[in-house]
Amino acid sequence: AVEAERLNQATLGSKKFYEDASKSLSGGVASQYQIHSPWPIYIEKGDGPRIWDVDGNEYYDFHNGFGSMVQGHAHPAIGKALEARYPMGTHFAAPTEDAIVVGDELAKRFGLPKWRYTNSGSEATMDAIRIARAYTGRDTVMKIFGSYHGHHDTVMVDIGWIDEQEIGPRDNYASIAYGAGVPQATVDMTVAVPFNDAETMEKRIQALEAEGRLPAVVIMEAAMMNLGVVLPEPGYLEAVREITKKYGIVLIFDEVKTGICIAPGGATEKFGVKPDMVTLAKALGGGLPAGAIGMTEELSKIVEDGTVYQVGTYNGNPFTLAAARASLQEVMTDDAYAHLAYLNDRILAGCDDVIKRYDLTAYTVGIGSKGCVVFSENKVVDYESYMANARTGGPLADLAWLFNMNRGIFMTPGREEEWTLSVTHDDAAIDAYVSAFDELAAALRA
Ligand code: PLP
Repeated sequence: AVEAERLNQATLGSKKFYEDASKSLSGGVASQYQIHSPWPIYIEKGDGPRIWDVDGNEYYDFHNGFGSMVQGHAHPAIGKALEARYPMGTHFAAPTEDAIVVGDELAKRFGLPKWRYTNSGSEATMDAIRIARAYTGRDTVMKIFGSYHGHHDTVMVDIGWIDEQEIGPRDNYASIAYGAGVPQATVDMTVAVPFNDAETMEKRIQALEAEGRLPAVVIMEAAMMNLGVVLPEPGYLEAVREITKKYGIVLIFDEVKTGICIAPGGATEKFGVKPDMVTLAKALGGGLPAGAIGMTEELSKIVEDGTVYQVGTYNGNPFTLAAARASLQEVMTDDAYAHLAYLNDRILAGCDDVIKRYDLTAYTVGIGSKGCVVFSENKVVDYESYMANARTGGPLADLAWLFNMNRGIFMTPGREEEWTLSVTHDDAAIDAYVSAFDELAAALRA
């Protein structure tokens, strides 16, 4: 209560913005995920690893726009590219040179030859699933329980906050819509299986085959990034690759979060397992709304010949691609990834040390620019173990958010979000995070 009141008093300007915004914006925000209690923090500006809210409070940004701003805010190289692009016009709905350069770069990084652009992660996963359905001539979509792939109907199923009784048995999870307005017929076409369990995946595929509805596609994050961070167990991704090949199912790695952030070629490079398609967004645009779909030559054929429509007025927008090009070529270099690895090692080691010194029931997990502290005794490997953890560790995660915000560490309020470091973060930013965590641990032990 003390920490909550402290934050409230420090953000009265945001309260006023919220009251004003509520007159014209639904819920006072642009997107539901911007809402949180008692009011959203309205941001004025960002520079490198720092942001300032409308009350003038300064924070190190570990939220980084839901993991988009791995380049840091207002990066000069991206600014220069946008300044050069703007006077030449920003939208023609016709291709520009940057589309080729970015496509080449993505092909090199992810090892998939053909690319298309979108404006968001949701559009990328929506189009990728449609391509997979067209290719296989099947309708059923298989996803991982608890994973988020955007806000189109097909994937607004089995995302989270569902009780164990409702989920049903592990080898036959129920399909449950996330929020109202998703047609039941669509919900029924999406089937979820547990992460890190290839055996159950294959069993479910066989059961679906017996019902005459073999999946068109398995869409998954190779490392889950929407339940904190959940890494694949050794051999799991290889097994999924084998199973999907065996049943002629298209495998999509949704790299909207992992993509540019955990390695130059994302999870695909990091884990060395090659999917048939990759979806990108968030960090791809260096702060502008970008998305992309990578695919094999074979899948590309039915896109090229118009069998399946992959379209969008703003797809390949020149302004966005100027930012993406500068980001990929000038910002997200090998040195940048080495710096992110150094920073992540430092923050993980710092948090591990706090956990040990205060004997907290928690552990850390991290990869590339991302990581989190998991307030759980048991290792989280899938949605069920996450929920068991979230129920016990949730209040602690909420308290950690308040401690962070009051100590100048900006984080998403959702317990399922991890930190994202940017290439502009430095030792001081990391030490500030660890120091806030130390204060939380001391308070918990007091
Ligand atoms: N896929 C994953 C893994 C995501 O984390 C998200 C967003 O959080 C999306 C897709 C949807 O992206 P967008 O919000 O750009 O539509």
